[in-house]
Amino acid sequence: MSSVISYQVKPISPEAHLFEVTLKIAEPDQQGQMLVMPSWILGSYMIRDFAKNLVTLTAQSGGQQVAWEKQDKQSWLFAPCGGELTVTYTIYAWDLSVRSAHLDTTHGYFNGTSLFLRVVGQEQQPCDVELLPPDGDAYVGWRVATTLQENMASYLGFGSYQAANYDELVDHPVEMGAFDYAEFEVAGVPHAIAITGRHDADMERLCSDLEMLCNSHIDMFGQLPEMDRYLFQVMAVGDGYGGLEHRSSTSLICKRTDLPKRGEEKVTKGYRQFLGLASHEYFHLWNVKRIRPEAFKTADLSKEVHTRLLWAFEGITSYYDDLSLIRTGRVETESYLELLAQVITRVQRGSGRLKQSLSDSSFDAWTKFYKQDENAPNAIVSYYAKGALAALALDLTIRKETAGRLSLDDVMRALWERHGRTDTGVAEGDIESLVMEVTGLDLGDFFDRAIRGTDELELAPLLAHFGIGYRLCPAGSVDDLGSGKAPESTEEARPVLGARIKSSNGAAELAVVLDGGAAQKAGLSAGDTLVAIGGIRATAGNVNDLVASVEKGERVEVHAFRRDELMSFDLKPLPAPEDTCHLWLLESPAPEVESRRSSWLGLG
Ligand code: ZN
Repeated sequence: MSSVISYQVKPISPEAHLFEVTLKIAEPDQQGQMLVMPSWILGSYMIRDFAKNLVTLTAQSGGQQVAWEKQDKQSWLFAPCGGELTVTYTIYAWDLSVRSAHLDTTHGYFNGTSLFLRVVGQEQQPCDVELLPPDGDAYVGWRVATTLQENMASYLGFGSYQAANYDELVDHPVEMGAFDYAEFEVAGVPHAIAITGRHDADMERLCSDLEMLCNSHIDMFGQLPEMDRYLFQVMAVGDGYGGLEHRSSTSLICKRTDLPKRGEEKVTKGYRQFLGLASHEYFHLWNVKRIRPEAFKTADLSKEVHTRLLWAFEGITSYYDDLSLIRTGRVETESYLELLAQVITRVQRGSGRLKQSLSDSSFDAWTKFYKQDENAPNAIVSYYAKGALAALALDLTIRKETAGRLSLDDVMRALWERHGRTDTGVAEGDIESLVMEVTGLDLGDFFDRAIRGTDELELAPLLAHFGIGYRLCPAGSVDDLGSGKAPESTEEARPVLGARIKSSNGAAELAVVLDGGAAQKAGLSAGDTLVAIGGIRATAGNVNDLVASVEKGERVEVHAFRRDELMSFDLKPLPAPEDTCHLWLLESPAPEVESRRSSWLGLG
């Protein structure tokens, strides 16, 4: 049986990065059919105007050309026609990210939001998708990795797939090429990983580690949401990082060196990051794909959709992504504490945390978090990083106040039961009221301060209750992001510039000038290129050392270019702020403290 809407996708010219899509609409709107390209993709809150990549478009019906007129940047209106309307268009695909589409002679990848025009008025109709390989002998080895439902296609094959409606159609990205592929099973559901790009990964180890992480999330929520199978789609590159969640798959980009090499047994920092990313996206199967904001249930992909809850969907997910690494024994305690300390450091290093609340950060994600400029650290706070810390504070508070009877895990299960399983959208106040209902605690003040306010989260006393030491120290060096160990020395803080440097062909350009820092006080600005400090040539490599060598309390002359004008500044370096977090296991804790700690971290 064929659907009334069908899309055929063919990489018509991998060399030119062009997909050709042929869309057939059996019963177009009698008044004239409108087709619209999405401007954003769920999970990535930025207007991306995917329509800009549409290169050519023709339409015909019954052998006759059909006229069309563009209505706005992403909408096309076709003249009324008697019968089936066929629209053929090409899409330029050269964005190697998880959010768009990419095609060359080595592989093709696309999200439906980049390729599929929406048939206005027929969004609920089922559609057929025919995937075709590129022409030529070079492509005979290509296969397909997607969680789109096969129709006539064989498993991993080109051919006919289907989707129940437009929403589903655009939530199953497609990878085509000569990827590596391995399968494993979790909760009776087939899982797989497909890796594109050159790599030397130990597929067996990947499968067993992923299986363990998947099981840990399933154990916490009580069940895997209903799905036929799940796919980790991985693009391995020299340098890159990112992931995007879908209803039964995820697309990931990582460094090939982050993947575990054959014969290697330890969890490197790179592999720890990869596992954290995979864990994060899998957790989204519940938290945001099914437990989702009311506003996302019928999300209009043609314009921004706001929610004040991204701190919960991204922050809580970020909290559990790393927590599951220690709970499954993938990393040691010190390694987990290091990850946590680094999140705290990240938040502490931006004074934006004192100006923007998590609620506002969530709401303005579109124009602020996703469009960060040189002032971002001074103006905004990340709903990922601070959101994860708010989740930590909430978890520890619940554990503490209920004497270990309950935790955030219970809240997540309740959210799943109430909102996820039943697909009942989460309204703005629902999470807070559910937390209070499940725990019986009055946490109104906590939410006012942590979510709607800009007070510092008081983590130190909470962590101490669980046998974890917490201290903020001046950074020992520019690379010091914090640690999972007690701080070593109490040396005096180094004098610092109060700016972040980026290398511009080796020259020291100011990427960020921090509020209240020495650079800002001296009048230096982001974009300035430092030429000399105290008469010595400055480079990206030596700036911090030159500043650190200035005697305490002394001033130094700085020369810098602003645009093409040479300027002189009188700089007084300031002591490095106490913005670098160290966490450690407190020694010889009382037995009840140790037992709380073990229960939280899933130890022993
Ligand atoms: Zn996420």
